[in-house]
Amino acid sequence: MNGRAWSRPRRTCPDWCVSRNLNCRAEHGYPGAEHRAKPITISNPGAGSAVLTRVRTAGGTEYAEIRLSATLPADEHAARQRLAALLTHLRTLIGPAGR
Ligand SMILES: [Zn+2]
Repeated sequence: MNGRAWSRPRRTCPDWCVSRNLNCRAEHGYPGAEHRAKPITISNPGAGSAVLTRVRTAGGTEYAEIRLSATLPADEHAARQRLAALLTHLRTLIGPAGR
């Protein structure tokens, strides 16, 4: 497997799609429809939470959808430092396009 979008069947529901066998809209070719996995949630009370979802577009491209909620310090300067650190980590996570 090389991971390139064209190597994946576009309409066939992957085994991880939550709508598999449930009339998945992507399987029926609805514009903008996507195959979506069951979201995985992690949380650390007081610090934040994250929800990770595997998604495959109708065009065959896959991505990880991440919703991240991070608590910011009450102090404005510390909050800005935390935001800057988050941006650095997010850039590292995304990085250059993979193969
Ligand atoms: Zn599907």
